[in-house]
Amino acid sequence: YFGKNTWVYLDGEFVKADNTRIDVFGQSLHYGYAAIEGIRAYNTHNGIRLFKGEQHYERLRLSCDRVGIPFPWETDLLIEKTYQLLEKNNLRSAYVRPMVLTGHNMYLTPSEDSSIVILAWEWGPFLGTDLIHVTCSPYQRPNPHAIPPDAKIAGQYVASILATTEATKRGYDEAILMDSEGHVAQASSNNLFIEKDGRLYTPALGHVFPGITRQTVLEIAKALNVDVIEKQISPEELKNADSAFLTGTATGIVGIAAIDGTHFPEEWADTVGATIQRAYKNLTLEKENYEVII
Ligand code: PMP
Repeated sequence: YFGKNTWVYLDGEFVKADNTRIDVFGQSLHYGYAAIEGIRAYNTHNGIRLFKGEQHYERLRLSCDRVGIPFPWETDLLIEKTYQLLEKNNLRSAYVRPMVLTGHNMYLTPSEDSSIVILAWEWGPFLGTDLIHVTCSPYQRPNPHAIPPDAKIAGQYVASILATTEATKRGYDEAILMDSEGHVAQASSNNLFIEKDGRLYTPALGHVFPGITRQTVLEIAKALNVDVIEKQISPEELKNADSAFLTGTATGIVGIAAIDGTHFPEEWADTVGATIQRAYKNLTLEKENYEVII
């Protein structure tokens, strides 16, 4: 879904992917010391729109701040360049992946230089559109005292790759990771919500990544007068839920059929999650009055 001929944005210029060069002596490559983002562009009635683009680039800035990677770029400029990149690649809807690279040296201290690269490609829903089957992973969500949990740092994703690989080897679509205290945290690259008796619950911040889709779900739920409780969730509470779903920019909102082979009792179509899934879709496509037309 992306080729050598694809245009990418690199430090102020548009270049063909094939003409970019990776610094083999870079800290980012050796140590995973890079910050990334994931944004979606939707083909809306009002034209191509980045959904919450500003928030995503501000989060990229925060990720860099958290770990000492210089971030000298203005958000407005990055948004403008992202739209130009979409146009150059003839993309009407896309997944956009900005990445900040740093450090032409092999030391373990921050460097003064950094580069920003923005990639974009057409990408369907990350976990598909059907209900998914998940499993409790033997891998844990990275310890928040090791790497800040609200930073999207490249090296953290080794843990996500291990968890997903282990889960798919056992025939599941996705892994649910516990935090280092044994509470339910999230999926490898998505946040988790459960429904019980008409209310939604989601793990409180602290160990989980503060997903922008998670935040959007909180906003939609508020507009729909649905209670959402952010708290610690035990594996038993997860297994005893009426329904559950995952949220993320690449994924959107996807319902979970079963965990470790045990089906959630509520029909997905009847869940609060399904209602929120429709509202989220309408919101990203900029359909007006999304809370009325769901
Ligand atoms: N958790 C992790 C570890 C992620 O990488 C992502 C995707 N960035 C999410 C959750 C979901 O976040 P968002 O809704 O902002 O895409």
